[in-house]
Amino acid sequence: MEVTHPVGVVGAGTMGAGIALVCARQGHRVYLHDIKQDILDKAQSYIASILTKDAAKGSISEEQKQKTYELVEPVQDIAMLGECGIVIEAVPEKLELKRAIFARLTDLCRRDALLLSNTSSLSITEIAGGLPHPERIIGFHFFNPAPVMPLVEVIRGHRSGEEATEAAYRFAKELGKAPVLAADSPGFIVNRVARPYYNEALRIMGDRIAGAEQIDRIMKQAGGFKMGPFELQDLIGIDINFATTESVYTRFFHESRFKPSRIQQRMVQAGSLGRKTGEGYYPYDN
Ligand code: NAD
Repeated sequence: MEVTHPVGVVGAGTMGAGIALVCARQGHRVYLHDIKQDILDKAQSYIASILTKDAAKGSISEEQKQKTYELVEPVQDIAMLGECGIVIEAVPEKLELKRAIFARLTDLCRRDALLLSNTSSLSITEIAGGLPHPERIIGFHFFNPAPVMPLVEVIRGHRSGEEATEAAYRFAKELGKAPVLAADSPGFIVNRVARPYYNEALRIMGDRIAGAEQIDRIMKQAGGFKMGPFELQDLIGIDINFATTESVYTRFFHESRFKPSRIQQRMVQAGSLGRKTGEGYYPYDN
C-alpha cells in the first residue's frame, strides 16, 4: 500500500513510541503526538536507543539510523495530524478518552484517512458509535514490544467499512507484520486467552500458594512461556493490564472467570505500574 501522507500516532507511551518506530522503519514520515512533552522526549530517546543498537549490530547503516530517527517528528499539537493519511491511536485504555480522540480526528483529518485504534480490549463498535464516518475506524492491535512482535489483530467494528478493514490489513502487512482478522468482542483473541494467565497467577499469589518470582520461574522453565505472568504485567504496565481485565470483565457482564484482582488494583492505586515507573512486582533501574 502506498502511503504518501504522514502517519500519525496519538499517545507516545509504551506502545505509541514503538509503533512510531515500526512505521518509520518502513520509510513513513510519522507525526508522534502526546500531551506530555517529557513523554515525547522519552519516546525519542527510546527510538534512538533501538536504532543505535541496530546500527551497532550492523543491521542498518549510520545513514539509515539517522534517516529513520528523523522520520519521527514529535508534535504537541494534534492539529498537525490533519494531513495524515493514517492515524494510529495509542492513548490509555479508557473508552471516553478514546471516543474523544476519534471525534477530534474525524473532525481534523482528511476524508480518506484511515483511523486505527490500538485498543487491547475495548469495542471498536463502541469507540466509533455515534461518530461521523465510523466506516473508517478500525481496530489495529499491536503487541508489546511493537517493534519486535509480529502479530497485529485487525478488528472490524459493526460499522467499520470493508474497504477500510482491507486497507488496514494491507497496511499491517506492509509494516512487515502478521495481521489476523479478529471479531469485535471483548479482548478480541489474544487478550481474552491471556486473562486467566494473569488472573489465576494473581489468585495463586493471593492464596499464598506461591510468590511472583516462583510462578514466573515455573511458567518459563516448565511451561515453556517466554515470560511469566508477573514479568509480563511489569512490561505491559500494570495499569494497562488492569484496565484491560476490567474492560473484559464489564463487557462479559461480570462473569466471575474474568473478575479483576484486588492485588492488581492496589498496585495501580499505589502507582507501582511496572517498568515504566521503576517498580512493579520487581524493582527496575530506570
Ligand atoms: P501508556 O500509558 O504507556 O501511554 C499512553 C500515552 O497516552 C501517555 O504517554 C499519555 O500521556 C498519552 N495521552 C493520554 N491522554 C492523551 C491525549 N488526550 N492525547 C494524546 N496523548 C494522550 O499506555 P500504553 O501501554 O502505550 O497503551 C496505550 C494503548 O495501547 C491502550 O489502549 C492499551 O490497552 C494498548 N496496548 C497496550 C499494550 C501494552 O503492553 N502496554 C499492548 C497492546 C495494546
